[in-house]
Amino acid sequence: MVSRMERFTGSFTQQEPIPEEGIAAALDILRHGRLHRYNTAAGEVSPTALLEQEFAEFTGARYCLAVASGGYAMATALRAVQVCPGAPVLTNAFTLAPVPGAIASIGARPVFIETTRDLTIDFPHLEQMARATGAQVLVLSHMRGHLCDMDRLMTLCNSLGVRVIEDCAHTMGAAWNGVPSGRHGVIGCYSTQTYKHMNSGEGGFLVTDDAGLAARSVLLSGSYMLYERHLAAPPPEVFEALRLDVPNVSGRMDNLRAAILRPQIALLPDRAARWTALYRVMERGLDQTNGLRLIPRPEPEAFVPSSFQFTLPGWDPGRVAALVARCAARGVELKWFGAPDPVGFTSRYEHWRYASPQSLPQTDAVLAGLIDLRLPLTFSPEDVALIARIIRAEVLAVGQGEIERVTLGQMGD
Ligand SMILES: *Cc1c(COP(=O)(O)O)cnc(C)c1O
Repeated sequence: MVSRMERFTGSFTQQEPIPEEGIAAALDILRHGRLHRYNTAAGEVSPTALLEQEFAEFTGARYCLAVASGGYAMATALRAVQVCPGAPVLTNAFTLAPVPGAIASIGARPVFIETTRDLTIDFPHLEQMARATGAQVLVLSHMRGHLCDMDRLMTLCNSLGVRVIEDCAHTMGAAWNGVPSGRHGVIGCYSTQTYKHMNSGEGGFLVTDDAGLAARSVLLSGSYMLYERHLAAPPPEVFEALRLDVPNVSGRMDNLRAAILRPQIALLPDRAARWTALYRVMERGLDQTNGLRLIPRPEPEAFVPSSFQFTLPGWDPGRVAALVARCAARGVELKWFGAPDPVGFTSRYEHWRYASPQSLPQTDAVLAGLIDLRLPLTFSPEDVALIARIIRAEVLAVGQGEIERVTLGQMGD
């Protein structure tokens, strides 16, 4: 009986503080006032340029550009590879709104690809839709950090003549078979928004080995012909051929955010280890729970799990809604991708009405029972074990029909 009374009182949205070193560097910049990345004193290298160099090194990429958001990084990548207005762009049906948003922002058409039960892109559907639409670009979203078989994906895309832009908003520091996420495709995009792996409030990166794409991206981001001040960009000759042809779509990173981010790069490996430890506690706590399916993690995948997912295969919406409500009453915030209306961060492809309607029954079935929860590093392993006990008890109670279903019309937000 005692375990049914347990309640979690922590916050699912509380991140760790900014490292003291970052705070000190940020205060310095506030005091001298040179926040713009190109506003430097004589002989000074801007923190933004240093950050780009350091992040390029972290990923092993030749070039890196820091920008205003992850969504901006993706839109810039799409412009850099010269996707034309009206062109089809393939992407995961299971992703977050900024991904189809980036595609729509350049006037291109998102074409959604089915989701496997392990939450990754469906290869046969990808091949079918690439052939049917003639799309030449895939924005591959590693949604919630689940990497597909990247070796197979790249072989398939290469054979289809499809270029891959990776959305690594949930895979900063992850790898497939030892190759860092973001380094398989032509461009890798990252977000440093508060809920991701590094926190600058808003922000993002784009990395590539392609000099032309890097130069285009720098020009697009609004470099005012000051590209020579970049440390992780190609040499000036690459820019000279492009500088008058590429429009300025301002979306730069500023020195204040760069200062906050720089000391966080070195913390990533330790953060990844702590996230993985929390993830494994949750996995053990939910293992062998009747009615609940854990997502298997393939051996070649090194992941950085800032969140946790499981599915409730075959549950009807009323039962899932009851589970979400009962967990919430015990302090456990579950997000449900099957809810009829988008709540918080859980919108679904059919909610993106600016895209052409598509019917994706396999994705619908997966999302109908998909539950998602954050694992902030402010949780201790004991917190996570408690959360797992609460979820497990409620899944068993609701799953066994002890509890009344919620009628969907009556659901709160
Ligand atoms: C957060 C996120 C992004 C980028 O988000 P911004 O808020 O634009 O930095 C892109 N893709 C996914 C899957 C995300 O979760």
